[in-house]
Amino acid sequence: MTEQLLRAADIVDRLEPQLKRDIDQLRAQHGKGPHLRILYFTDHSPSILFKNAQEKVARRLGITPGTQGCDWGHVTREEVKRVITQWNRDPAVHGIFVHQPLPPQLDAQEISTLIDPQKDVEGIHPQNSARRFFAKARIGSCTALAVMELIDEALRRSGGTLEGKEAVVVGHSEIVGRPVGMLLLDRLATTTVCHVATKALQQHVERADVLVVAVGQPELIKGAWIKPGAVVIDVGINVVGGKVVGDVEFEAARARAAFLTPVPGGVGPVTVMMVMKNTVEAFKLQQKG
Ligand code: NAD
Repeated sequence: MTEQLLRAADIVDRLEPQLKRDIDQLRAQHGKGPHLRILYFTDHSPSILFKNAQEKVARRLGITPGTQGCDWGHVTREEVKRVITQWNRDPAVHGIFVHQPLPPQLDAQEISTLIDPQKDVEGIHPQNSARRFFAKARIGSCTALAVMELIDEALRRSGGTLEGKEAVVVGHSEIVGRPVGMLLLDRLATTTVCHVATKALQQHVERADVLVVAVGQPELIKGAWIKPGAVVIDVGINVVGGKVVGDVEFEAARARAAFLTPVPGGVGPVTVMMVMKNTVEAFKLQQKG
């Protein structure tokens, strides 16, 4: 089977002009455009790389980015709380994004509740998570939205639908696995969420028409487990010998999957685009008051 790579560039090239047009219209209508604030970690290279990518894309689109660097080893909850509170109160700030993973002295659940839900462009505030439960999210989880964009790209190319398909998500984190599971259920896929305690992971993976993997373990999913013709979305980012690899054994999976995301160049850049899309949604929500 010859697989088709689901490259981020294809999605970004399609979404970027639409989003840029939307932002230009908002600027003309309101006399101002969206402003995104990013809290990142200065001595943590993945955070710096991600921040640079976010700034670059924001500028390209006409979103004004602002950043605050914190020291990974020494930042305190009080410092983060002070920064977020200031951004919450500032009417010129429309979107707030706090980089994850957080250093061990910070509590991810607490930080997610500090951000004004209307400015939460990562879609992690409990109010936004609760709305997702009822399929009514105004601001969705950016990584989960990116995964769905990639699945939809595969469906567009193949002419298929998600309804009734066997979907398997490996990973049940609050920022990726769980929201992806919810969005797949909303689309009437028969959805299984696997995690660290799942027995017989291989058997679950083997029956997946759509497989989403978000674990953070290089090549945990063997290519031989992939159902022939499956859509495979690899969210994992791992550095092995200085090279970035995903959670799926890429070369072996290529021989079986119908559609497969590369790492890098798959989910990551689409997630950045979804942060920008969420920033535009947040801006619109705030203009309504
Ligand atoms: P996490 O550490 O919060 O969660 C990991 C999940 O994997 C947990 O649900 C755990 O139960 C599960 N797990 C661990 N070992 C397992 C095993 N042996 N079998 C099955 N499940 C297992 O991680 P996260 O924040 O969800 O991120 C996961 C990966 O996705 C990481 O590599 C992260 O860097 C990457 N990520 C990428 C993007 C992107 O935009 N590309 C965004 C967020 C996260």
